[in-house]
Amino acid sequence: MSHVPTPTQTYDLSFARWVYGHVDGGDRLALCMQCGTCSGSCPLGPQMDFGPRKLFMMIRAGLKDQVLGSNTIWNCVSCYNCVVRCPRQVPVKHILQSLATVAVREGYPGARETDNARFAKAFWWSAAKYGRTDERLVTAKFYFSYGLSKGYRKSMANLAIAKGMVKARRMHLGLPHKCKNAGELKLILARAAEIEARHGDAS
Ligand code: SF4
Ligand code: SF4
Repeated sequence: MSHVPTPTQTYDLSFARWVYGHVDGGDRLALCMQCGTCSGSCPLGPQMDFGPRKLFMMIRAGLKDQVLGSNTIWNCVSCYNCVVRCPRQVPVKHILQSLATVAVREGYPGARETDNARFAKAFWWSAAKYGRTDERLVTAKFYFSYGLSKGYRKSMANLAIAKGMVKARRMHLGLPHKCKNAGELKLILARAAEIEARHGDAS
């Protein structure tokens, strides 16, 4: 008599439904047909715990902790390969990055400590403060988020790159550029924070 495997995982669509309704691009996730084009096209696939195709199946399976705790959502570099190739027009990149925001908001272990999260925080700090992203400030904020001595070592290790950028006029040496109307920027950011707060949590 052939052995019939018994299911050990109870599928739970509540997390998937939350993602469909609350995550940027999530409304198209239900259209994913698991073809794997996204994972096969992703240059960062080898660095991810799971490719996007598998991650989307895990969302349907209700594996919220594994999804929000995975490095997949942090290792997307926004190359858009998956977005332009998906036969169902699922905005894979938007979904991954929106899930990363949820992981930070919900305090998933390590979510704030990844390189990408630290860099995103430094990038956002510069954008919110000056209305511009200044390469020197963003990199300094990123490096020194690891502490003084590690930040110094990281800075020195990349000094040659910085010099090359200055030489190629890709990095300026004067005061940081600022946007003209910082007051309006503050109002826009406050409004964005209100909208984000309305999204609620993923529990
Ligand atoms: S390419 Fe699109 S349809 Fe195919 S697995 Fe990825 S998200 Fe799903
Ligand atoms: S946008 Fe992100 S997930 Fe999509 S192929 Fe590029 S790195 Fe991979």
